[in-house]
Amino acid sequence: MAWDFSTDPEWESDLTWIRDFMRTEILPLETLALDHATYLRVIRPLQQEVKDRGLWAAHLGPELGGAGLGQVKLALVHEILGASELGPPVFGVQAPDSGNIELLALAASDDQRERWLKPLLAGEILSAFSMTEQGTGSDPKQFTTAAVRDGDEWVINGSKWFVSNADRSAFHILMAVTDRDVHPYEGQSMIIVPSDAPGVEMRPLGLLNDPHHCGALHTHCEVHYRDVRVPRDALLGTEGGAFLLAQKRLGPGRIHHCMRWLGVARRAFDDMCERAVSMSVHGSRLADKQFIQDFIALSAAELAAARLLTLHAAWKIDREGASGSRVEISMIKYHGAKVMHDILDRSIQVHGSLGLSTDMPLQEMYAFSRSGRLYDGPDEVHKATVAKLITREYVPTAVPTDHVPTRRVAALEKYQDLLDTVSVQ
Ligand SMILES: Cc1cc2nc3c(=O)[nH]c(=O)nc-3n(C[C@H](O)[C@H](O)[C@H](O)COP(=O)(O)OP(=O)(O)OC[C@H]3O[C@@H](n4cnc5c(N)ncnc54)[C@H](O)[C@@H]3O)c2cc1C
Repeated sequence: MAWDFSTDPEWESDLTWIRDFMRTEILPLETLALDHATYLRVIRPLQQEVKDRGLWAAHLGPELGGAGLGQVKLALVHEILGASELGPPVFGVQAPDSGNIELLALAASDDQRERWLKPLLAGEILSAFSMTEQGTGSDPKQFTTAAVRDGDEWVINGSKWFVSNADRSAFHILMAVTDRDVHPYEGQSMIIVPSDAPGVEMRPLGLLNDPHHCGALHTHCEVHYRDVRVPRDALLGTEGGAFLLAQKRLGPGRIHHCMRWLGVARRAFDDMCERAVSMSVHGSRLADKQFIQDFIALSAAELAAARLLTLHAAWKIDREGASGSRVEISMIKYHGAKVMHDILDRSIQVHGSLGLSTDMPLQEMYAFSRSGRLYDGPDEVHKATVAKLITREYVPTAVPTDHVPTRRVAALEKYQDLLDTVSVQ
């Protein structure tokens, strides 16, 4: 099977443009500690430049105004943009909006497209995906938030947890139980709830990398839906179709996180190497000390492996879709999160106390990296998926296939003639 590691020259020139744009226009914004509203205002002209270059919302097909790159090319874009949390919104590829756009593109009615998809695509509004319930995020079968039909309306009651940008978004795509009498995989539906609907109450959550709930890009909320009424046609897709839709959204969404993490890890790695050649203690540069060489060599190998796993998963999605690539997606989800975390950890160590201070971005990136082991499914669930799908390919045997005495008996039988001839000679 052919395997081409190169990128075509035209695409390489776009990547060079993105790299330069990121370095000169986006990374400087990090130092200004902008609030959300100012950040959105400041990036407007930058977003226009990206649109003019034809690189806006590159994860979407041309029918939705995107560049329709496919996952492999997208991986190379995300890798660059992921170096800073501020990068993806400038290119219209930030979570959770990117996944929500894909969901709406898949399942929205004409009215829903006009009201929600169009302004979301244009970057005029934000959206939220409201699925997790506290303590059961890993097991959506246990969700209890319910939508009950009352005449021409759905009446929604329940609570969701850790909903990104719930309080900044124009609408939530909510996963709710609409039929308790069938299997949970068939009894939940997606419903579009305007964030300002009466009965939607939000409690801001602080988290490791944003304890005061003021992130320029993302905030998180616990959301209570108390007798929230939305019209019947707020249903997204079919009744009972939430799990199928969620799978379609979460598969590509997960790999996009992994692509961005490569950018985080690369940045931490570059910082580490620069520090190692810049600082001397006890008679030599850090780069000449074996402890630090181990950090650098290990990190380089881990990063290269994570990159190949990510690109391979992307390549497989392009050919077989997300559902045919579950092992690859889950594998890079937990592996990529660990690589990002470990490289950041080493980079901070090499910087000493400077690495922990806010004079460097590493502490912020480190705090951010920790959540990668949880969102879109904790490591343990992805590892269980990988192990389950892989072991499905194996059949139980009474005697191990590699059992030497058994193989020896078979080999003696197979080569008996030859062995007899050899011994006669
Ligand atoms: C930054 C961030 C953003 C998020 N954004 C959103 C969002 O926009 N919308 C949304 O709906 N949700 C969001 N989430 C929630 C996220 O998807 C959940 O945190 C995740 O699915 C895990 O669910 P949980 O936190 O309830 O963990 P729990 O289900 O409480 O699990 C706790 C722990 O139990 C263990 N565990 C669970 N299952 C297994 C298993 N099968 N085998 C072994 N051990 C297991 C794991 O150690 C796991 O970490 C976000 C989370 C974070 C951190």
